[in-house]
Amino acid sequence: MLTFAPGPSKVYDALSDYLQDAVREGILSANHRSGPFMQMYQETEALMRQKLHMPEDYVLLFTSSATENWEIISQSIVESASFHIYSGSFGGKWVKFAQHIIPESKALKIAANEAIQVSLLDIPEQFDLIAITQNETSNASQVPMSVIAEIKEKFPEKMIAVDTTSSMAGIELDFSLADIWYASVQKCFGLPAGLGLLMLSPKAIEKCEQKGEEGRYNSLSFMLENARGYQTHYTPNVLGIYLLNRVLKDMPEIQHIDSNLRERMNKLENCIANTTSLRMLVDNEATRSTTVMGVTGSESLITKVKKEALEAGFQLGSGYGPLKPTSFRIANFPAITDYEMNGLIEFLSKY
Ligand SMILES: *Cc1c(COP(=O)(O)O)cnc(C)c1O
Repeated sequence: MLTFAPGPSKVYDALSDYLQDAVREGILSANHRSGPFMQMYQETEALMRQKLHMPEDYVLLFTSSATENWEIISQSIVESASFHIYSGSFGGKWVKFAQHIIPESKALKIAANEAIQVSLLDIPEQFDLIAITQNETSNASQVPMSVIAEIKEKFPEKMIAVDTTSSMAGIELDFSLADIWYASVQKCFGLPAGLGLLMLSPKAIEKCEQKGEEGRYNSLSFMLENARGYQTHYTPNVLGIYLLNRVLKDMPEIQHIDSNLRERMNKLENCIANTTSLRMLVDNEATRSTTVMGVTGSESLITKVKKEALEAGFQLGSGYGPLKPTSFRIANFPAITDYEMNGLIEFLSKY
């Protein structure tokens, strides 16, 4: 069975080799304050720069999940309140976590087909951080880099935090446009769940120092203090970090993955356009995701396609939350090979 679920998603085919190597190389028993671990951390950070184009002066931190990053940002970086612009379930969850810590945090909810109209955005001074879910996995929409650039230009004094959980390592991100970027590894990195990534600009680090929040196990100041010596604030997911290191080493530079995924998405879109009664969940090309495709149709048709897909060996991702009965999702993630994607396209073209 091949899964096209957008998280947890298909892992890279090389995973079993990586796992055997991890055991053989003895890294799994290495102390996280020892040389081998520190070296692996440093090398992984360098690979994030080399392969994903993370800027030289940004820092890579390891957390447990994207969800944990939601809390860390409100707890340790936001000074007065955060302002969220979102269209789907993950963006909505982020707002809830933020408001639990800082009740004054607010949100602007837009439709999946609606582009953020930056010229009309009014974000008062009391909001010092703008939160954007760049790739909304639940409804298959995305915010292009050009829009984040406009937001940065309009609000140069505010921090910007970007959720790229289901796009980092799949599309080329311009990290210079925002101060806080995060993801977790069970989506475009093609790895088993259990590791979150958090990348911070010097400005974000400065903001954390100004706020001076400390004392919690995941207080950012504590994490940064450890990261300065390539250590972590608790015994980390060493296996997850090792696997991330291997995936980064073996992957081409991100611009090549980006163009391949875009090409595959075009093929998928054409395939859906040629079906009799399936439609794209997001009509607006400008807000449509590159890494997660949403397909909609009548409830009976969606049920039938999912069932017949299973019989053909393909597990489609279910629709998320309220969209569950009338949609399915397809992960266009790099661990899925072109051959596998072509197989799915062939299957879907009969509808
Ligand atoms: C999957 C996902 C999350 C949650 O990730 P966890 O690692 O489970 O915390 C958050 N945001 C988006 C956009 C996601 O796709």
